[in-house]
Amino acid sequence: MTAGRNTAGAPRAEQGMSYQVSKTDEQWRAELSREEYAVLRQAGTERPFTGEYDSTTTEGVYSCRACGAELFRSETKFDSHCGWPSFYAPSEKDNVELHEDISMGMKRVEVLCATCGSHLGHVFDDAPQTPTGDRYCMNSVSLKLAPSNS
Ligand SMILES: [Zn+2]
Repeated sequence: MTAGRNTAGAPRAEQGMSYQVSKTDEQWRAELSREEYAVLRQAGTERPFTGEYDSTTTEGVYSCRACGAELFRSETKFDSHCGWPSFYAPSEKDNVELHEDISMGMKRVEVLCATCGSHLGHVFDDAPQTPTGDRYCMNSVSLKLAPSNS
């Protein structure tokens, strides 16, 4: 585990704790598109090189598509050539929640929105070219970019 990350434990929901933004499955289904629901609420993954923000260089703030909480800023976005938008750090450490994911026969660290518990993507420590060495590999469909006005 890289220094500076929050400790990976069980997701808050599994610990019986609730999120600041908490909705029923029916509400999420009604509010999100089919694609958004599949990724955010069912931990799906969009196809690589297809996402809206894969190669975006626009300056601005990336927020959670499900609840609107700030997650990342464009200053930490880098071109990882992996096919998904990649950041080396969240704008605030507490914006995201990390936990170990052993699904699909792989040991990975899942990244969730700390405000609503929605699935965002995974984080890997395979980016030595960045200040943190981390690659937050996000689904475009989990994010919403608000371009800065400057
Ligand atoms: Zn959220």
